[in-house]
Amino acid sequence: MERRFEYLTSEQLKPFIEQNALVILGIGTIEEHGAHLPTGTDLFITQRFMDDLRERLAADGSVPFLTLPAIWTGYSAKLMQAWPGTIRMDTRTVMDMMRQIMGSLCEMGFRKMLVLNGHGHHTELLRVVAREVSDDHGIAPAIVNFLYLGARAYNAVRKGPAGGSIHGGEDETSVMLHYGYPVATDRYTDADHVNVHTDFVAGDNFIGSTRVFWSTWHYSPSKTGLLGDPTPSTADTGRVLIEACLDEMVRFVKEYWTFQPR
Ligand SMILES: [Zn+2]
Repeated sequence: MERRFEYLTSEQLKPFIEQNALVILGIGTIEEHGAHLPTGTDLFITQRFMDDLRERLAADGSVPFLTLPAIWTGYSAKLMQAWPGTIRMDTRTVMDMMRQIMGSLCEMGFRKMLVLNGHGHHTELLRVVAREVSDDHGIAPAIVNFLYLGARAYNAVRKGPAGGSIHGGEDETSVMLHYGYPVATDRYTDADHVNVHTDFVAGDNFIGSTRVFWSTWHYSPSKTGLLGDPTPSTADTGRVLIEACLDEMVRFVKEYWTFQPR
């Protein structure tokens, strides 16, 4: 059965609305990722993860769902433009776009929505959008930075220490290797390994907890466009991370779709 929203006709969408189908949205971006990764890294990872998730959920069969294509642009901080390749929308443009996409789905009758976020700068924006859509339409969208769902499994196999997995580091590079995208392995550098780890700010996306929001880009300025260290990346690490994220994502989709407030 076709699960890609954009391949269905208007009539074919109707039974999905009647079954209260979950709509899965994704947003990556196009942004510089150092000398070794393509600018589409966040977009590619998001879209491929959505494709994997679609297969898993279709095989499982317990939740009616559809996917939309991953959105390819968004907000990046201005300092990312120190390196060519970053296309920047205003924060409010991204928020308005997402609010209107989700609002359109609500107007059609969809009530369950999950947004997969593949780009760190969108985290806070998407949470506000979820509140806005909730106010506008009385639904409760869920937002997830899907790569962090597999943190436990990733930390068990990662080869680099804390400070290597933020932007273009061991995590994203390993996933890009796993998915078979071009990675310039001869351009790896450890010049931007983040060594700032405090009681309040975790200088790594997979280790520790952040009690204070304090942009990593300001407390540990990048020299090369990276934050982190791609040197220890392997396709196998990427596979372990993605598999763990998929397992957790499927578990959450079931929880989200079946949840009934008491
Ligand atoms: Zn990225």
